[in-house]
Amino acid sequence: MFPKKSPKVTIDYAKCGEHGKVDPRDCTKCMKACDPAIFIIHEPVGVEQDPIDPKQWRITAVWTSLCNKCLKCVEVCPEKAISVSWS
Ligand code: SF4
Ligand code: SF4
Repeated sequence: MFPKKSPKVTIDYAKCGEHGKVDPRDCTKCMKACDPAIFIIHEPVGVEQDPIDPKQWRITAVWTSLCNKCLKCVEVCPEKAISVSWS
């Protein structure tokens, strides 16, 4: 018996994050909507960044194995920056 695959939760950083028009610290709707709290907000790691620019923040889905596929994060995101898929 193989373990179940976790849903795939993707954030489009061209819409929200260091390349988008939204600073996630001003929104966080996805984090508030997610009952199992799988998201974190953090400074980008391993990407080209200016360490003294306080606007370089992003949301990442970390604990995707806890995602219950409710799609609340997709519904509340004003930028349509989140997609959730599973098979
Ligand atoms: S689909 Fe639901 S459980 Fe999964 S990340 Fe979005 S809000 Fe959280
Ligand atoms: S809801 Fe959308 S715009 Fe708001 S922080 Fe989450 S990903 Fe960014």
